[in-house]
Amino acid sequence: MDDAGADGRHAGGASGGEESIDPPEEFRESAAVADPDVYDSFAADGPDAWRAAADLLEWDRYPETVLDDDDPPFYEWFPDGRLNAAANCLDRHLADRRNQLAIRWFGKRGERRSYTYADLHREVNAAAAGLRELGVGEDDVVTIYLPMIPELPITMLACARIGAPHNVVFAGLSAEALATRIDAADSAYLVTCDGYYRREDAFNQKSRADNARLKADADLEATVVVDRLGDALETPLGADEHDYGTLVDAHDGERVDPVARDATDLLFVMYTSGTTGRPKGVEHATGGYLAHVAWTTRNVLDVRPDDTYWCAADIGWITGHSYGVYGPLATGTTTVLYEGSPDYPDRDRVWDLIERNAVSVFYTSPTAIRSFMKWGAEYPAAHDLSSIRLLGTVGESITPKAWRWYREHVGGGDAPVVDTWWQTETGAITLATLPGVTPMKPGKVGPPLPGIDARVVDRDGDPIEPGETGYLTIASPWPGMLRGLREGEERYLREYWIEGEDGWRYRTGDGATVDEDGYVTILGRVDDVINVRAHRFNTAELESAIVAVEGVTEAAVVGDGDGGVVAYVTTRSDVEPDAALRESITAEVAGVVAEVARPDRIVFTPELPKTRSGKIMRRLLEDIARGEEFGDVSALRNPEVVGEIESTVREE
Ligand code: ATP
Ligand code: MG
Repeated sequence: MDDAGADGRHAGGASGGEESIDPPEEFRESAAVADPDVYDSFAADGPDAWRAAADLLEWDRYPETVLDDDDPPFYEWFPDGRLNAAANCLDRHLADRRNQLAIRWFGKRGERRSYTYADLHREVNAAAAGLRELGVGEDDVVTIYLPMIPELPITMLACARIGAPHNVVFAGLSAEALATRIDAADSAYLVTCDGYYRREDAFNQKSRADNARLKADADLEATVVVDRLGDALETPLGADEHDYGTLVDAHDGERVDPVARDATDLLFVMYTSGTTGRPKGVEHATGGYLAHVAWTTRNVLDVRPDDTYWCAADIGWITGHSYGVYGPLATGTTTVLYEGSPDYPDRDRVWDLIERNAVSVFYTSPTAIRSFMKWGAEYPAAHDLSSIRLLGTVGESITPKAWRWYREHVGGGDAPVVDTWWQTETGAITLATLPGVTPMKPGKVGPPLPGIDARVVDRDGDPIEPGETGYLTIASPWPGMLRGLREGEERYLREYWIEGEDGWRYRTGDGATVDEDGYVTILGRVDDVINVRAHRFNTAELESAIVAVEGVTEAAVVGDGDGGVVAYVTTRSDVEPDAALRESITAEVAGVVAEVARPDRIVFTPELPKTRSGKIMRRLLEDIARGEEFGDVSALRNPEVVGEIESTVREE
């Protein structure tokens, strides 16, 4: 079975005869879900099947009702239930594992801090008491602007404990972006820090937060400042500013009773990453979100309390919320929190951390995997990664080539690799294989999870034939779904919902194909379709063909505005981007996709411009290809490459 498609050419299209890999027998034996009937039993029970997720939580009032769908698409999950998210992540574990590690933190300067469940519980209580002292009450939104330090999850949980929704803003975003998010979330409280290390330098986060306060319309009631840098950076505090350490120490040892929240009450606001258009303030409710996150952590990522688990995503994005904080802590596992970059001090840092912590479940993104591939297999090979039991990926489509590399060089050749599709709005994983049950097909996400009514449809909402391109939609509600948008009901309806003859459908905005076995291949955003000489191609299909060429690591294709295609390509560090490579790329596209889709120009570049969450900014590349003005690049992770790419394009 393993050799069909081993040339890595089956991405993008639903070409038949591709590789299908059964769950490894050894894994299946101890998997959380090993019974294939799970699909049928969820289908038979309808929304009630999700009671299994509610049962993973501890409720102050157990929900009698699973779903209230009287006023679609304003759905309410577990509407009569009451619970506290922080108590579910901490208090209920104390009896069994108070001395088990909850968080193992690794700082940028080689610092380490570990928290047992008892330690974490104590500090969250103190932080909750501190926030209360500053006036934070139930339903007051607290904005958190912190890097990957323990105080970030601690503050989130402290907010959850007192029923104050959090609004985490990724620490790398600008003052402008922070100001917009403070205002849009109606937030009167901010928790930030003095600064953090960027490579060798101390970066002043506080002055960026100060600028945001000047730009924001809202007057903040109080700001709390974590001292991350100590003597390396002095940041004087104003009258309404409080030192985090002093505040928490003053309340050390105090107990704050967790506030019982309605399941439908707001747990947090999270702005989408903004790959397309304006960011949206997604609101997640407490009960449905936590139940769905806990269920998928246990049954899709197969995390158990005795695992050491590492989700490498930044907590500033939804993946870090769901699978870096709430999922692992609700499950009672030990989780790794890493502040630094994957290539500092060296390119084996990730493998070093996996070995050091005996990480058994590792969850990262295709962007990261492509970097690992580019750096070379010698880095993982230099470490003992035999603790790995399962690998996960999220954020973008993974090419079969990257999928195989990940399994081979990180997963010891036999770990299940679970490609998970979901969005800020879905709250938790919605499409993925169940690692103990469902065969994997590299490059295809897989079928919808049990209980998720995802369908690939045409413009009219009718199912498409296998192999055709359509829109990924979800035809019934699911527990982790957003409860609304900060921008209001009208925008929520307009942005996501279509009313059809058979009810309301959620639009994901992603294009997809589906094969005879019901496996979905994500083709990217619906807008990521380019017109090449009057033929419509999906960017992901072309890019998969290009990265299948030996030596190529990443590719982004855009239309040049005149019916032609421009391909931006990065190569492995030891590969010379020469005429022969151009020729191979062109031949591959012509051979695998279509003669007519051959790129008109191939631009080699050391890096592709990416958003902070690691997604390629195609809009920008398109502007450059068309010789148009391009907008603000400050939201990029690597704004410096833009000038370089632009001058390469002009010179050619
Ligand atoms: P915005 O909605 O503001 O444009 P965004 O969609 O990039 O930002 P996220 O919610 O973080 O913000 O990303 C969700 C999107 O990421 C999905 O809609 C999909 O396009 C992509 N995605 C996530 N997981 C996968 C996956 N496993 N395979 C393919 N694409 C994925
Ligand atoms: Mg989106």
